[in-house]
Amino acid sequence: MIINNETIVKDDDPRIRLKSEKVAVPLTDEDDTILKTMLTYVRDSIDPIKSKEQNLRPSVGISAVQIGILKQLVAISIDYGEDGKKEYLLANPRIVSHSAQNAYLKSGEGCLSVDQEHVGYVVRHARIKVKAYDALAKKEVLIHADGYEAIVLQHEIDHLSGRLFYDHINKEDPWKEDPDAVVIE
Ligand SMILES: [Zn+2]
Repeated sequence: MIINNETIVKDDDPRIRLKSEKVAVPLTDEDDTILKTMLTYVRDSIDPIKSKEQNLRPSVGISAVQIGILKQLVAISIDYGEDGKKEYLLANPRIVSHSAQNAYLKSGEGCLSVDQEHVGYVVRHARIKVKAYDALAKKEVLIHADGYEAIVLQHEIDHLSGRLFYDHINKEDPWKEDPDAVVIE
């Protein structure tokens, strides 16, 4: 299975709006391989040499629908440099609770499946709790996330129900500020 900027399902493809199906846990070998291939993509995508050689677009996460597989599988790898990496390999992730407070990235969001720029704040929950099966830990987990990590998790979980980041941008006023929200640099 090759994943690169040519094979990624883009937002002009109706499949990107479809809902993904739950998978059985513990994972089948097939689903485990899909997740690991997705994680390799995300890790390699920020490697300057590999990303150029293999036509990868830098990313921090990917969902299976983006490679044309309608299963609830998500791989995330956030590189914090000296502070290490935060990685998740999730099956059936779902948000079980969230803060009333919102948050958004100061510079907006992008997506492997979206080639055009969509400017504006992508308003999300500041803090979330996510239940999932984690294929790295090989068990059901409850993730407490805030900050950038919470944004990435919500972006990827959205893909599983066919939502894209620009669905959350205020159409009349894309840069409308929420004085109570956390603005993430
Ligand atoms: Zn995306």
